[in-house]
Amino acid sequence: MEAEEIELYVKAGKIAKAVVDIARSYVKKGARLLDICENLESEIARLGGKPAFPVNIAINHIAAHYTPFIGDDTRVPDGSLVKVDVGAHVNGRIADVAVTVDVGSEYGELIVAAEEALDKALEKIAPKVRIVDISTVIEKTIKYYGFKPIVNLTGHELSPYVIHAGTTIPNVWSPDLAISSARFEPGHVYAIEPFVTVKNALGEVENGPGSTIYRLIKAKSSKGFEAIFNFIHENYRTLPFAQRWIERSFGKRGVELLNRMVYERMVMEYPVLIEKSRGPVAQAEHTVLITDKEVLVTTLN
Ligand code: MN
Ligand code: MN
Repeated sequence: MEAEEIELYVKAGKIAKAVVDIARSYVKKGARLLDICENLESEIARLGGKPAFPVNIAINHIAAHYTPFIGDDTRVPDGSLVKVDVGAHVNGRIADVAVTVDVGSEYGELIVAAEEALDKALEKIAPKVRIVDISTVIEKTIKYYGFKPIVNLTGHELSPYVIHAGTTIPNVWSPDLAISSARFEPGHVYAIEPFVTVKNALGEVENGPGSTIYRLIKAKSSKGFEAIFNFIHENYRTLPFAQRWIERSFGKRGVELLNRMVYERMVMEYPVLIEKSRGPVAQAEHTVLITDKEVLVTTLN
């Protein structure tokens, strides 16, 4: 990877890290999720980046893919586990980082386990290390704490303007040969993200309702959608975007058009991901860039 490209990833990493740190101070009992997300997205822009996806705030058994819509009055409940997932990009070079904040819950230890699993994984990642060895470290660390990893949520490769590219990094050992033979390759970028739940939960997520987070899946517009299609393509390309971003530019009409674009399969809507047995979920995440000789954790500081 060229030095200039590495610099873009490093810049995106610094922005995402700064913003996720700010998130810790915003997440308080009674705070409106919509305000938190919009403020954090403004911070990304102020620091010279763009959101690589809408800020996600997932509470308790909601594991991922929740972002507020306009008029959403959901607030941070007392006694909750709040995951904040931030993506920033500079010229499409993405940093993906997440933290979990304990708002007076009885599950703070889940956060400790998720963070330690991530730390142990980062210690072990090096050029050409097998992905299955990292998955095993994550699984073992979580189980050492007496908890359960979420088996169907994984880390993932990042490529320019693509959030989930190619290789996945499972949070448990996998018998899949394609996974166990894959390695961390120089010139590639990966997000590592352990998800942890309690022992008596199922340790698996299921699809919930639509998240109001979308992504373009067609390269060309169907007739009648050109204006909104071009807006999405110019602003977000192949990255996820929020319904509220569209509504700010196109009003209620934009939301109607979006729903029709989903029906026409120009756009896909992500489902909210919910732990199947409604167990509480904690997450930790960092982005790593592998060079020939070293590993840069772009979201560390
Ligand atoms: Mn993330
Ligand atoms: Mn991720």
